[in-house]
Amino acid sequence: MQIWLDGQLCDKAEARVSVFDHGLLYGDGVFEGLRVYDGCVFRLKQHLDRLYDSARVVMIEIPYTRDQITQAICDTVRANGLRNCYVRLVVTRGTGDLGLNPANCPRPTVFIIAAPISLYPPEVYTRGLEIVTVPSQRFHVASWNPRVKSLNYLNNIMAKIEGQTAGALEALMLDHNGYVVECTADNVFIVRGGVLFTPPAYLGALRGITQAAVIDLATGFGWTVRHEPFTRYEVFTADEMFLTGTAAEVV
Ligand code: PMP
Repeated sequence: MQIWLDGQLCDKAEARVSVFDHGLLYGDGVFEGLRVYDGCVFRLKQHLDRLYDSARVVMIEIPYTRDQITQAICDTVRANGLRNCYVRLVVTRGTGDLGLNPANCPRPTVFIIAAPISLYPPEVYTRGLEIVTVPSQRFHVASWNPRVKSLNYLNNIMAKIEGQTAGALEALMLDHNGYVVECTADNVFIVRGGVLFTPPAYLGALRGITQAAVIDLATGFGWTVRHEPFTRYEVFTADEMFLTGTAAEVV
């Protein structure tokens, strides 16, 4: 497997990041998960927009242009002989010292992995997925806006653990007011009376690229899509519910 690391392709065994990298020490970094279908990167522009926006919010200056990152993604996919895969693109604050001061990290670390991924077992896509509501809440947007796709996923990981403890593969996360926000790595939709509802971004959900693709398709088919807060009541009484994500696709 070939990994793109700081400007070069190298073998997986050689692709090493320092133990002083602040991505590891502090979760100080941002990332994207993309999909390649039949040799084409799906919605690349939107992923790059979100990546550069995430980096801007946390004040990491990505040391490559959008064209260079695009080339690097394509090179990584080609070097691995893949036409259908998942791509993980990570930008960390870089290698620093043991203090959290980002000023001591002179250059961000950037790496790209292209590999197959399956988030849920195949039968989930035909039979459906059982989910539970979990106690871990999404962060309040005023303290930390989860629209930044940062390397700090402990909130989501705790929710995942809580879901698995209850015997469910996926977990529904609420905000501090009890409004549904998203699942651990997926956006959520419900369908009621022929209308699609998905939580508005201000509740603290990541603005999903797959979510946007589904909205484009649905509106193209003449469906009404509303970004509106809803609670578990609306979930329990919905006609249908589905999750969207780059790794998950549509469940
Ligand atoms: N929410 C969270 C927390 C996620 O990690 C993801 C996966 N990136 C999503 C939603 C879905 O977003 P996208 O469709 O852009 O992958």
